[in-house]
Amino acid sequence: MDSSFRHLPSVDRLISDQRMQRLEEEYSHHFVLQIVRQHLEEVRLHIAQGEPAPSFDQLVESICERLDSLAEPSLRPVINATGVLLHTNLGRAPLSQEAVVAMERSAKGYTNLEIDMDSGKRGSRQVHIQSLLCQLTGAEAALVVNNNASAVLLALSALAKGKEVIVSRGQAVEIGGGFRIPSVMRQSGAKLVEVGTTNRTYLSDYEEAVTPRTAALLRVHSSNFRVVGFAQSVAIEELTQLGERYGLPVLDDLGSGCLLDTGRFGLDPEPMVQQSIATGVGLAMFSADKLLGGPQAGIMVGQGPLVAKLQRHPLARAVRIDKIRLAGLAVTLIHYLKGEADTKIPVWRMLSMPLEEIEERAQKWCHFLGGAASIVGGDSVVGGGSLPGGTLPTRLVAIRGRGKVKELADKLRRESPMVIGRTENNLLLLDPRTVLPEEEGALLTRLRNILSH
Ligand SMILES: *Cc1c(COP(=O)(O)O)cnc(C)c1O
Repeated sequence: MDSSFRHLPSVDRLISDQRMQRLEEEYSHHFVLQIVRQHLEEVRLHIAQGEPAPSFDQLVESICERLDSLAEPSLRPVINATGVLLHTNLGRAPLSQEAVVAMERSAKGYTNLEIDMDSGKRGSRQVHIQSLLCQLTGAEAALVVNNNASAVLLALSALAKGKEVIVSRGQAVEIGGGFRIPSVMRQSGAKLVEVGTTNRTYLSDYEEAVTPRTAALLRVHSSNFRVVGFAQSVAIEELTQLGERYGLPVLDDLGSGCLLDTGRFGLDPEPMVQQSIATGVGLAMFSADKLLGGPQAGIMVGQGPLVAKLQRHPLARAVRIDKIRLAGLAVTLIHYLKGEADTKIPVWRMLSMPLEEIEERAQKWCHFLGGAASIVGGDSVVGGGSLPGGTLPTRLVAIRGRGKVKELADKLRRESPMVIGRTENNLLLLDPRTVLPEEEGALLTRLRNILSH
């Protein structure tokens, strides 16, 4: 045996080192031992592969680091200076102050989640958002689940298992993160019947595919791409008329739950939930954490009998929403009811932020950062599976990288508070639109510290 193995200290000797005493005080003895053993095991493997044995001090230090980094939550806040409003990798919509307060309250203690306080009997958690959703969208009934992917899976499983669902070939899409319409369809036990071509689908294509086994017509919003040029799709109105003629519900996967008109901000119109309901779809499904601006959830609104069927399906229990997000969602919906979504919900505040306000903030940042920064024009992007290609003119704070823009971006991203921007043409670009006002101070101090070195 290589003598290096014998040079490794025993577990007991390591544990009794002065520096390890801190670990013993801070962490459970059981886990200190476990980490020490795991670490020694790995070191032995490395030595067997020809690496030199670490010194006693090195061993102690790596063990301390290992345990400390395990105890440091790796999920942390990030300052989003990318200008992408709904960034799936950054957790999509930031929440309103009021929603955060409601979620904290709900998290801290007990709630009347499933108790009817009048009778004292068991109730449904859905009552807390049902009337709100019905008022806001015009639907008869509503159900909230874990996310939109589970909403689509639940709808197909409960309404079309063992039957056929007709979808335009141009809408059998992948949204990202593994959500693909054909796979979800297979999982639900429904049979996908694709009609039309990638770029053009006509109403007659749907009609010709209707059989006695057809359970529904599905429309999927192409959330993250746009077909331009020689393209044709069937309007939701026509699809619902066809559905009515054959007694088939239209299931509308809207992706982003947009309740306000995006046209006001010079953006393309995003399909709105109310419109979909008004045309008579059976079910409209959408995410709560995209343009709606709430916590992660999947919202289903539509015809009473269909929603009742979903509610009774065993999968509904498997994908149910928790009390914390339910509380945040209710408060987010109330912002719409009060007509204050533009000012209270961060995503809508960002969308509606006047260019002058962005310019003013950019000037303030440049002034603080001195000569290293300047203002350039550019675009913010809505992102997150809504308004494909939709951009808003913005002002960017550009920091010259002097050949080291990648190092600068890496540094900003790696240390706390973590900041993410864009890099382009040897410039680091920061968009004030997506930086929350309360984050500005921390961002600027960090930037100034990095730039002064
Ligand atoms: C985003 C999106 C989904 C998935 O929604 P999650 O809430 O992320 O599960 C499904 N369908 C469409 C059309 C989408 O845009």
